[in-house]
Amino acid sequence: MTKNESFIEVKFNTPFKIKAGVSTRIGGESTGPYSSFNLGKSSGEDLDPVTKNRKVYADWFGKKPEQLVVAFQCHGNQIESVTKPGEFKDVDGFMTQTPDLPLNVSIADCFPVWFHDCVTGWIAVTHCGWRGVANGIHKLQIQKLIETGSKLENIQVVIGPGIRLCHFEVGGEVGEFFPLKFIRESETIGKFFVDLPGTIRQDLLELGIWQKNIEDMDRCTYCEPDFFYSYRRDGGVTGRMMAGIVIQGTSDQ
Ligand SMILES: [Zn+2]
Repeated sequence: MTKNESFIEVKFNTPFKIKAGVSTRIGGESTGPYSSFNLGKSSGEDLDPVTKNRKVYADWFGKKPEQLVVAFQCHGNQIESVTKPGEFKDVDGFMTQTPDLPLNVSIADCFPVWFHDCVTGWIAVTHCGWRGVANGIHKLQIQKLIETGSKLENIQVVIGPGIRLCHFEVGGEVGEFFPLKFIRESETIGKFFVDLPGTIRQDLLELGIWQKNIEDMDRCTYCEPDFFYSYRRDGGVTGRMMAGIVIQGTSDQ
């Protein structure tokens, strides 16, 4: 936890200078259901406070909003390897080895998952909702890191805040995509609770990521209304948080 409650910082055990974290809903300009650090341009809120909030967010990385890599996500499993800032369509994950290029995804129940190879220096962040997890975006991310020369034992993973087993209730049409081990029956007939971070962790372990290199923040967006937006809890009228990661270069650009 940083002093500033607008961000939760993510730490890696690495010789590289990595800054990573996720925003909370605290300390911004937005009001009403979007109060107060809404970063979602298509959340339904007026763009003025969102634009101001995005400046504060970018500044956390020592950047201006136009220097960020951001996504128009689509709950798919497209991962883009990037070398320049910009807004990318239909992308749910970014990776780079370029310093001073913050990669970002937006979330409000879906899990941000950060990846870092402490030998090659590659970084990545993916947006993992149930569709993304069912499609294996987290596994694809590992595969893509391997293609850059990563060794499994050097990859560190952090699973951020999202809607967890306690609150992620779905119908059978969603539940069927997940292993029984990560499903709990609901008291409502035909409904199930799904453990997305459990599924992500298990899949990564099966791929060969070391247990000690997978960290789970263990925080549920639905459970903490003072701290996080939750699309599910707030009935869709809510803000968006952003999760980002950057390799901090030595230049002072
Ligand atoms: Zn919960």
